[in-house]
Amino acid sequence: MEKKLTHFGNAVIPEEEKVSRVREVFDTVAGKYDLMNDLMSLGIHRIWKRLVAADTGLRPGDSAIDVAGGTADIALLMAARTGEHGRVVVYDINKEMLRTGRAKCVDMGRLRGLEFVCGNAEEIAFPDNTFHCATVGFGIRNVTHLDRAFAEMRRVVKPGGKVICLEFSHPASAVISKLYDIYSFKVIPEVGELVTGNRAAYVYLPESIRKFPPQEELKKIMETAGLFKVSYYNLFNGIAAVHIGYKV
Ligand code: SAM
Repeated sequence: MEKKLTHFGNAVIPEEEKVSRVREVFDTVAGKYDLMNDLMSLGIHRIWKRLVAADTGLRPGDSAIDVAGGTADIALLMAARTGEHGRVVVYDINKEMLRTGRAKCVDMGRLRGLEFVCGNAEEIAFPDNTFHCATVGFGIRNVTHLDRAFAEMRRVVKPGGKVICLEFSHPASAVISKLYDIYSFKVIPEVGELVTGNRAAYVYLPESIRKFPPQEELKKIMETAGLFKVSYYNLFNGIAAVHIGYKV
C-alpha cells in the first residue's frame, strides 16, 4: 500500500513521520521559545494573544482548553478571566514545551486554575462537552490532520461554546507579502540560529506558514469539521488571522 504523504515545511514526508519531526523542532527550541517569539514579532504576538483571550468571552468559573498550548501564553490570559474557580488546560504533544510553560507559571505565581496535559490535538484526552471554549494559537499549522484537530476541539467544547484559531496566514497586499517573505526567509533563520542554535527550526517556521491554507480555505476546513458561523479577521494585513467558530 502507498504511504500517505504530508508537508513538513517544504519537505514532503510520510504522514506518520510528521509528529516526531515536529516534536524534534520544539524539543530543541522550548527553552528559548518565548524569547524568540518576542524577538521575531517585536512583542506583537502578545497583543494578538490578548485579542484571542478577549474573543473567548470567558467569565469567572468557566473552563477552557488551549490546544498546542506550548508555554501557556494564551492559557495564562484565559486563566486571568476564568479566575480561581475556573479551569484552563494547557494541552500539548511536547513535554519540553509544557515543562517550560509550567515553570514560567510557577515563577509568576500563577499556577492556580491551570492544568498541563500532554497529548495529541488529533485525539484530545477529554470527554465530549467539557469546556466553554477551545483555543489554538500558532499550533494547528504543525498538526498532521487539521480537520481531525478541529473536530476534536469541537467535540470537547460544550454546545454554544467557541473554537478559536490564531495562526499565521497570507497577507492581502503583494508588497507586504514580498517584504514579509524577505524578513521570514532571510532574517528569521539567522536570528533563530543565533538564539537557539537550531537554524532548521526557523527555516521550517516560514516554510510551514507558506504551506498553510489561506483564510477562506481554513474557514471551510473548520466548517467541514462541524463548526458553525465561522468568521475570521486579519491581523497586520493577513500576516496572521483569527478564525472563530461555534458548536451548536
Ligand atoms: N500556542 C503556543 C503559543 O502560541 O505560543 C505554542 C505554539 S508553538 C508554535 C506550536 C506548539 O504546537 C508546540 O508547543 C508543539 O509542541 C505543539 N504541537 C505540535 N503538534 C501538535 C499536536 N499534534 N498536538 C498537540 N500539540 C502539538
